[in-house]
Amino acid sequence: MEGHILSVETMGLRDGPGIRFVVFFAGCRLRCRFCHNPDSWAPGGKDTVTPEELFRRILRFRPYFSRSGGGVTFSGGEPLLQPDFLLRMLSLCKQEGIHTCLDTAGVGVGRYREILSLTDLVLYDVKETDPGRYLALTGTPIAETEAFLAALRACPRPTVVRAVILPGYNDTPDYMAQLRTYIREKLPPVREVELLPYHRMGAYKYAALGMDEPLGDTPPMDPLKTQALARQFFPDFSPEEGVLS
Ligand code: SF4
Repeated sequence: MEGHILSVETMGLRDGPGIRFVVFFAGCRLRCRFCHNPDSWAPGGKDTVTPEELFRRILRFRPYFSRSGGGVTFSGGEPLLQPDFLLRMLSLCKQEGIHTCLDTAGVGVGRYREILSLTDLVLYDVKETDPGRYLALTGTPIAETEAFLAALRACPRPTVVRAVILPGYNDTPDYMAQLRTYIREKLPPVREVELLPYHRMGAYKYAALGMDEPLGDTPPMDPLKTQALARQFFPDFSPEEGVLS
């Protein structure tokens, strides 16, 4: 068995607790208009590895991430598109007592319950809450990600929600209210909600790929306004305040 990956990050600090060894899987079926990693969409990847090879690389960094309370994060692209490889990686980590985190938009090819049963923390990206706008924003029906959410409700794991905030699109009180409702209805109790300001740091990648940047005319989202929205609409989801169900 082999997996297709784009790259690894050995000292990740954003994708889960502590220091993370982050594995970026190749391939994504969504086409989020705000995506800053269009180079992750193709399924081939830059590196083809067996789970055992990759796990040996991970173990070399264990002293660093273990001491920090960290672990391994599977990100992408979309890790759910390579379920066999992902399951093997999760099993190897579980056998060694390594904390695992799944960073996902929830659009894969099934086996979700098996995957979740081996996952310690889910970082779930809410792209949109309205079916029509989800389709327009991602090019994919919302039903696909809701199949993953059904599995997550059936096999609840500690979950952090992340949502990109776009100026003039979803930076409104109305959308924040919709997002709260969606999280309550569709997800198990979540630990935290992170609002992420839209940025254009992927512009050079679109240029390198000879592609038009879908939101090339959209300015970056103001980080301070994003923080204010989070404080106003999600104060009860902060890690200090604990879990909201
Ligand atoms: S799910 Fe992530 S990698 Fe895929 S298109 Fe959306 S932002 Fe990009």
